[in-house]
Amino acid sequence: MYSEYENCKLCPRACGADRRTGRGYCGAGTETVVARIMRHMWEEPCISGSRGSGAVFFSGCNLRCSYCQNRDISYALTGRAMTSDELAEAMLELQAQGAHNVDMITAAPYLPAVISAIKAAKERGLTVPVVYNTGGYETEEAVIELAPYVDVWLPDFKYVSSDLARRYSHAADYPEIAYRAISLMTELAGAPVFGADGMIRSGVIVRHLVLPGCREDSKAVMRRIASIGADRLKLSLMRQYTPDFADESCDLRRRVTTFEYNDVLRCAVDLGLDGYSQSAESAVASFTPDFGQN
Ligand code: SF4
Repeated sequence: MYSEYENCKLCPRACGADRRTGRGYCGAGTETVVARIMRHMWEEPCISGSRGSGAVFFSGCNLRCSYCQNRDISYALTGRAMTSDELAEAMLELQAQGAHNVDMITAAPYLPAVISAIKAAKERGLTVPVVYNTGGYETEEAVIELAPYVDVWLPDFKYVSSDLARRYSHAADYPEIAYRAISLMTELAGAPVFGADGMIRSGVIVRHLVLPGCREDSKAVMRRIASIGADRLKLSLMRQYTPDFADESCDLRRRVTTFEYNDVLRCAVDLGLDGYSQSAESAVASFTPDFGQN
């Protein structure tokens, strides 16, 4: 058990939960719960490549967005408890299966356990890049602690508007927190580096999911990302939003139109941002991995 779990302030939510006796906002207790470990083909091409990323989906989430596509693992602690030692072995197994990297997905509630697992895996021969895949709601302290073990940062930058952040992710401070975290990730990782095979070795890819009716905020997000340095990171502009997962509090009841998506994409291009875009076909529920089995 890690002492940080006693009065937990591991993430910006800083809910102060005593995870020995209860659960924090994120749902996490003292055990590291993993929903699924798999080779994942649906990340960006430079991460999934031909053999997949080595995805480790952690259960629980410090944001719990009202439209979350991974609701079954972000809202409910689905999966099994793993020790850091087991997690390290799982990373090595993914590498042995040919995964291009290991991809820690929504690991913030388990920071000390995840660092200890990566450290152990590296000592035992993990050589593929470590990807840290996050909603962007991370403290600067966490980024600094993770930096020696992470090669590729894959944060979301969801909103610039505090109102949207409050309405859909229950975190009015998200815009400022995410901006500071992503700026720091970029400073620590340096500009993206790619191997001869086109796979990313290090750097930052910022994801932004365009939401229906929110394109002006999306364009403000593009400007905020560009202010960090268009040549210092890559953008992944996502249009896979589907209302299929929205809860009753969420008023985002349709998909994003081609006009909305292209307007944001044009803004990104005009700002000199470079990276990845998605086709309209990606906005289907089947794009989301099935978390029913482990
Ligand atoms: S990681 Fe979870 S328990 Fe800890 S502060 Fe964040 S929401 Fe609360």
